[in-house]
Parts: sequence; C-alpha cells; structure tokens
Amino acid sequence: MVKVRKCSFCGRKEDEVNLLISGIDGFICESCVEQAGLILRDAQIHKPVTSAGLKNLPKPKEIKEYLDKYVIGQDAAKMSLSVAVYNHYKRVNNPGNDDVEIEKSNIVMVGSTGTGKTLLARTIAKMLLVPFAIVDATVLTEAGYVGEDVESLLVRLLQAADGNVEEAQRGIVFIDEIDKIARKSDNPSITRDVSGEGVQQGLLKLLEGSVVNVPPQGGRKHPEQKFIQVDTKNILFICGGAFDGIEKRIAQRLNTHVVGFDAARNVAKIDKGNMMQYIAPMDLKSFGLIPEIIGRLPILTHLEPLDRNALRKILTEPKNSIIKQYVKIFELDNVKLEFEDAVLDYVVDKAVEYGLGARGLRSLIETIMMEPMFEVPSLGVDKFVVTLELAKAKVESANMSVLKESSEDR
Ligand code: ADP
Repeated sequence: MVKVRKCSFCGRKEDEVNLLISGIDGFICESCVEQAGLILRDAQIHKPVTSAGLKNLPKPKEIKEYLDKYVIGQDAAKMSLSVAVYNHYKRVNNPGNDDVEIEKSNIVMVGSTGTGKTLLARTIAKMLLVPFAIVDATVLTEAGYVGEDVESLLVRLLQAADGNVEEAQRGIVFIDEIDKIARKSDNPSITRDVSGEGVQQGLLKLLEGSVVNVPPQGGRKHPEQKFIQVDTKNILFICGGAFDGIEKRIAQRLNTHVVGFDAARNVAKIDKGNMMQYIAPMDLKSFGLIPEIIGRLPILTHLEPLDRNALRKILTEPKNSIIKQYVKIFELDNVKLEFEDAVLDYVVDKAVEYGLGARGLRSLIETIMMEPMFEVPSLGVDKFVVTLELAKAKVESANMSVLKESSEDR
C-alpha cells in the first residue's frame, strides 16, 4: 500500500497543500512553517534580555561624571540620583533570595521648570541603555473618567521598549508635573477629586510594584481586549515637579520648628535665598501629596534655580550644547561658525530679563540664527561670525510672546 504523505503538524495531505517539506521522520507544510515562524518571532520579542548598560553597572561616581557632561550644576540632585539609580539596578541585577530584601528607591525631584529635571532622567536612561518614557501627570485621571488611566504610563514604556516586556520591566518612567495632581487641600476630600487624589491612589500601585494589565494599543480598556501583563517591581519611577510656592511652606516649617533656646542661632543659619535645599517629605504632604505616595518616593532631592553663570555654561559646555549643535549644522556645509562672546552674554541677559530660563536660551538662539541659516548656505563663504549687532537686531525685532511660547512648548 502506498503511504499518503501528509503534514506531521496539521495532518493535511500532500494534495491539500502547496508545498510539503520532508524531514527525517516527517513532513511539514508551508502554512505550518509560517505559523512556526510567527511563534518564533513572538518568542524572540519576549525573550529575556539584559539591557546592555546594566551588565557592567557603572558606579555612582561614574554615573555622576556622565551626568556632568550633559547637565550643568545640580550637584545635589546628581549625587542622589546616581546613588539611587545605582542601588536600584544593583537590586534588579541581584534578586535576593535571603531575608534582606532591598526596597525600591523611586525618586522625586523638586525644582522650578527648566532647571534640568527631565534632562537628568533622560541622560541616566541614555547611559544605562534602558527604555525610558516621559509622561505628564496632568493628563492622568482616575480610571473611568475622561483622560488617561495611570496604566498609560506603562503603554509608553512598552512602546519605548519596542514591545519587549522584559526590557520594559527594567525601564525608567519619568512622571513630570507630579505637583499638579496634589489634592486641593491638605485634608482628605469628601467630594470626588478625580484628577488629584484619585490619580495618586492609582499611581500608588504602580510605584510600589505590582502586576498591571496594560492594554496593548494604549487607549481605553475594552473587556474583550487581550492585556499584556507588566510587573512594575523593577521599574524605576522618577517624578519631577516645580511645586510652586513650596518655599513658603518650608519657611513656615523651619520657623515653627526652631523654637527655644537655640532658635535665634538656627534661624540665622538658614539661607533664605534658597529655601528649596531644606525640603523634606512633610513639605510635599502639606502641598497635597498623600502620605502613601510620599512613602513610595523615598529619595527626595531638589534642583537649584539656574543663575546667570549656569545659563552661560549651558550655552556652550554640555556635550550637545545648543551652540555646539549650530556649529555642527554649519560644519556640514563646510562653514566655520563662530559666536562673539558678547552674543552669548547678551542671550543670557535676555533669558534672565524675560524670565525664560534655560528653555529660553534655545528660542533666543533660534531667533538669531533663522536668517543666517537661510542665507549662509548660498553665500559660498567658509566662515560666518555671529556678531552682537546681528543678535540684538534679531532679538529686538522678534515678537517676545512668540519667544515665550516656543520656549514653553519644550
Ligand atoms: P525641567 O524638566 O526641569 O522642566 P528640562 O530638563 O526639560 O527642565 O530642561 C529644559 C531644557 O533646558 C533642556 O532640554 C536643556 O537644554 C536645558 N537645561 C535645563 N537645565 C539644564 C542644566 N542644568 N544643564 C544643561 N541644560 C539644561
């Protein structure tokens, strides 16, 4: 009897398929090959891989040195971040089986807008080559209300990890404007506070580490949708916020606490020009973060306001400073671009005068460089110097409201 050749996987006979590939003891048809290919691809996407930068975890000092290349000043924040990130990934790399379990050290950074909070978080993620997502806390609302559920943070992280769940589970999420979800008063509310306390409650479970069902495409949850399970145990959350007006609360606390014999001496020691450096968890509580959230953000650090000196350095010193970027753009056209020193001082003056901070530096330089970028490539020159005269003319003719808006967009 002639044996009928058939696919050993799906059982279809030779005449029912287009192609039957033979092996030692069996056969496989082309549609089973395709199926197997898909399974293989899926398995590869989800296979555990160690993020490249975590294998040789840099020491805190090395992390800080790396940050120094990109971020000016902010030594206190850099130091706490370096230590916290080092400890976090040391813990991730060595999941302990013994009694001593190292707890996760999520971070909260307090400092005015444009002082480098996002830049610090982004730079650390770049150094460690881990997936990184930035989310604005203001778009989050309590589940079921208009806005995004807190799970959307993880959707972004998954996207940053190209869908690789293992990688995402080791990533960093930067939650910006955490101060905007403060509850409206220090007392627990009786009315619903869907964008404040409700969101904080939602965030809590992510921060402390739990397995969360994430809708794969983002957006709202559908009952029939297949979820991706993401464990947040090893995800590092870095929160940032300006906490406008928190200085007053710090001052109040310091004054009310220093009573008695030593009071006068202690008050004299307080540097009133920079109250932020005395920030403590209880100030976040009086600002409206719930104690449970504060407990899940054990590392609290502050960023200094940027003075003229720092702004001047930001223009030229970081590895990818705005001036270096323009020089590079012109270099690609074989033009040597130079800025007179007076131009840089002038830009810093204007950024301070208009209260634009570090973000304003870029919009000011862009305003000055728009015309040269249009003209110079057609001039056939090999050198171009940006003079104070040119800078003044451009900035003075620019509409300040435009400058302000474009710096706020970033
Ligand atoms: P924040 O998150 O604190 O609001 P960002 O980190 O987004 O501020 O800073 C905005 C931009 O300003 C950055 O892209 C960077 O170009 C510049 N900048 C701010 N602070 C610094 C700093 N300390 N060193 C270097 N550049 C800075």
